[in-house]
Amino acid sequence: MTLFSKNLFLLFLLMGLISNIFSQNLNEAAIINFRGELKKIGDQWFLNTGDDFYAIQLSPEEFLINNHILLENKKEIEIRGILKEDEIEVYNLIYEKIELALRDENGIPLWESDEADFQPYEVMPEKCIGCQLCVKYCPYDAISMVKGMAVIDQEKCVACGICTDGNNGSFKGCPTNAIKKPSSQ
Ligand code: SF4
Ligand code: SF4
Repeated sequence: MTLFSKNLFLLFLLMGLISNIFSQNLNEAAIINFRGELKKIGDQWFLNTGDDFYAIQLSPEEFLINNHILLENKKEIEIRGILKEDEIEVYNLIYEKIELALRDENGIPLWESDEADFQPYEVMPEKCIGCQLCVKYCPYDAISMVKGMAVIDQEKCVACGICTDGNNGSFKGCPTNAIKKPSSQ
């Protein structure tokens, strides 16, 4: 190897090293923790930290609801994400003691792999006592009463699990375990 090619090789090695260090620092520095109050304007959620006001880029609503997260105005939320101009791309959040990852460390959306598991829920009529609690609490309006028994609209159900597991509030899920995923029946 000539002196020139040796120097050239060293130069490329050094440039690669610098660029690697720089991009690592950039990625690490870009992920920031935020804490504040939620505000919804139209279809867009915002975070009011007290000092700043940011738009927040979340997953599709179905993914949040599937993980028992129903965002409400003026509630406190913690976010870990990347600030892009005035918008936070959310990687993780903590809301009402539920911690949820929306993206992996490389920014890949986790809700896309979750969609593969999607299976609408069904009511087992022999167990339904017609209490209508599931009708009241289904966030997608997917359940209706037919001849005194609950029926789930397979087109509307997003498999959030609230009708079986409850909503982390006063509803604890179907009291007779009459609703299950088709695969677990
Ligand atoms: S909550 Fe359960 S028992 Fe009550 S209506 Fe719905 S499926 Fe039937
Ligand atoms: S029927 Fe149950 S699982 Fe389906 S969207 Fe409504 S609450 Fe969620």
